[in-house]
Amino acid sequence: MNIIFLGPPGAGKGTQSKRLEARYGIAQISTGDMLRAEVKAGSDIGREAKSLMDAGKLVPDTIIVSMLESRIQQPDCAKGFILDGFPRTVAQAEALDVVLARLSRKIDVVLMLEVDEDALADRIAGRFSCAKCGASYNDVSKPTQVAETCDLCGSHEFTRRADDNRQTVTSRLTAYRNETLPLLPYYEEKVMVAFIDGMAPIDEVSGQIDSTMTEVEKLTQK
Ligand code: AMP
Repeated sequence: MNIIFLGPPGAGKGTQSKRLEARYGIAQISTGDMLRAEVKAGSDIGREAKSLMDAGKLVPDTIIVSMLESRIQQPDCAKGFILDGFPRTVAQAEALDVVLARLSRKIDVVLMLEVDEDALADRIAGRFSCAKCGASYNDVSKPTQVAETCDLCGSHEFTRRADDNRQTVTSRLTAYRNETLPLLPYYEEKVMVAFIDGMAPIDEVSGQIDSTMTEVEKLTQK
């Protein structure tokens, strides 16, 4: 099962992708996570990407597409993948079509996570995650059960993304509106696009996604 997650920053794509990954044994591919790993490692790609990411701007398609192309061919993607944060431009979507055709694979469904833009800045500004296991939290909507202690691994160290601040959110949303939203008509012409209410509580959002996936499975088995 190959899935694309669309939706603005802060919509919950990462959280829901991780749940899908666990449920279907398919790989979550977050280009944002991959770039943050490059920045941390101090690689050439990381150095080129850092200032753009800090400013909330998109990293050039050439870097992203070649990174994605090799990632998609890793063994953990054999059963399927969830693209979280890619494609973000029509040029990336066209490049993805070429890569998938070469690998004889295709996208089964696009999940469009819809949220009110007003809610995004608060959601993003409140995000933090465990530095050890990566579990994600939010100051307001999902604090840790015990103060400053990860619910999953008990670690006391947490991190916040450098670009999760109110200044950067505005440019990230502008990039989303101008560059990424045109992907909707692009995919509506080609594959099943399911609209998910991202304002619902997290478990309800997962429920909506589950029902969609059941439908997609029925269709792909026909
Ligand atoms: P994300 O973790 O998906 O919110 O991505 C964080 C930042 O990484 C974005 O604001 C961009 O600067 C960069 N980025 C991630 N994915 C892409 C992509 N597909 N194309 C261009 N830039 C990206």
